[in-house]
Amino acid sequence: MYTNNRDEEVKLLKRLWTSQPTMCPKCGNAQLEHLHKKAKKSDCDWKCPACGEIYRTINMLKELPED
Ligand SMILES: [Zn+2]
Repeated sequence: MYTNNRDEEVKLLKRLWTSQPTMCPKCGNAQLEHLHKKAKKSDCDWKCPACGEIYRTINMLKELPED
């Protein structure tokens, strides 16, 4: 996970899925950008231009802890 708890992680995922401007939760230095800018179909992957962290929302969803 990139955040401190499940609720925060879900909020982060929702922001990414709705393409809201989101600061990188890891470094906090930049807004996340689409990983594949030209491929409109795969807009569920994001990247931080500052620290290079890649956020794959499908994987993040899979790794969410159970309640
Ligand atoms: Zn970052």
